[in-house]
Amino acid sequence: MKERAIRVLGDTVINQIAAGEVVERPASVLKELVENAIDADSAQIDVEIVAAGGKLIRVSDDGTGMSRDNALLSIERHATSKIREAADIERIATLGFRGEALAAISAVSRFTLRTRVHEALAGTEIVISGGKVQDVRDAGCPPGTTMEVRNLFFNMPARRKFLRSEATELSHLKQTFMMYALAHTGVGLSFVVDGQMLWQLAGKTTLEERLKDLYRLGADARLCPVHYRVGDLVVSGHVGLPDRTRSDRSEQYLFVNGRPASSPALFAAIREGYHATIPRDRHPIVFLFLALDPGEVDVNVHPTKKEVRFRNPAAVRDAVSVAIRRALGGD
Ligand code: ADP
Ligand code: MG
Repeated sequence: MKERAIRVLGDTVINQIAAGEVVERPASVLKELVENAIDADSAQIDVEIVAAGGKLIRVSDDGTGMSRDNALLSIERHATSKIREAADIERIATLGFRGEALAAISAVSRFTLRTRVHEALAGTEIVISGGKVQDVRDAGCPPGTTMEVRNLFFNMPARRKFLRSEATELSHLKQTFMMYALAHTGVGLSFVVDGQMLWQLAGKTTLEERLKDLYRLGADARLCPVHYRVGDLVVSGHVGLPDRTRSDRSEQYLFVNGRPASSPALFAAIREGYHATIPRDRHPIVFLFLALDPGEVDVNVHPTKKEVRFRNPAAVRDAVSVAIRRALGGD
């Protein structure tokens, strides 16, 4: 028996492996890029998709932009402007903090980053292919940042094979866009698919307006407004009446401190809120926003941050179920 040599992997391979956790499908790319644009204090975010994201996912913003040095750092793994030490995660106010999205995305696509800080005369363009920097140059571009992701998984044929039909991938992309459009009503957003404008949403608006724009909900939508506060915990949003349910949770939009996020405590709370009014195998339509002290919630449970953990899940569960019951006209 012969011992096998151990090697430390190169950065590109490490990023490709890590990309498996962060970038599952085109919608994961969209999520990360839109989160970054929101974290950059953008007023307007424009999204363009071609071929359900297989050919192109482009996100442009008018946010802070980056200097050349920062732009070069942004694509490194574990490089972030959002935290300095682990304790910062406990009071995180940004959507990102892990500093791995851009490294991961650029490792598994043909990636172009164009960015300019507002006070600079010129911007920077960085072109990366499969994790390898091809070009860094000055670029004439407006203030803000544009990221283009082409040919996702071109260098990972196994991953590419796992992509579903264009219709399925597109529906995940739409769902992701809607999530952030609902959670960040201050920001103007547009969504173009294969050259066609699907949504153009004005900024500085209300949840009601966004719901109308995104779902074309009329007066018959039968949604009840939710407003409930207990201590530092605020539950708001809209919930559907018990006579309009679905067979899955695809119309349950849950947000914790502006982050699309779920948790078993929230699912249980929804069930309790509707208690006997809907059958066990049906799911109500809910748009629920929780705002609570960032110290009360752990968002670092999963690389995609889709699931959160509450320090006091019982209190959250009670508050949410009471909020729903009151909105539906119960106690
Ligand atoms: P994270 O968001 O977790 O910090 P990312 O890999 O997504 O990690 O981004 C790395 C860094 O790049 C961010 O911390 C931010 O400083 C910068 N950045 C990314 N996208 C943008 C953007 N659209 N505008 C300005 N800065 C950005
Ligand atoms: Mg990010």
